[in-house]
Amino acid sequence: MDTLKLKGKKILIVEDDLSSRLYLNKILERVEAVILNAGDGVEAIRVAEKNPDIDIILMDIQLPVMDGYTSLKKIRESGSNVKIVAQTAYGMADDIESIITSGFDDCILKPIYAKQLLEKLSSFF
Ligand SMILES: [Mg+2]
Repeated sequence: MDTLKLKGKKILIVEDDLSSRLYLNKILERVEAVILNAGDGVEAIRVAEKNPDIDIILMDIQLPVMDGYTSLKKIRESGSNVKIVAQTAYGMADDIESIITSGFDDCILKPIYAKQLLEKLSSFF
């Protein structure tokens, strides 16, 4: 796995659960990605608009204020074609089907493992 590809890449983590967010930060810090954080869908949109150079958004589906689907839709409506990877709880079969049809670039199941996450994100570069 070539995690060197992720060095310096700007990644926005959208996650409302603080311990999950810290965990994702740790994984991505190790590969020297440039990390931005948002705790809900509205904040995600604001950070994405301020940082048009973001390479990947790692978007939780179940978020307070505005969910991942709506947030994705708004980001796309703003004209951005940034890569957006959904993260959702394992076993939410309905979720996975709607994620695929609603325009996310990829999907990762929780619990998220470092190796799996890094492989998926590296594959975009
Ligand atoms: Mg959540």
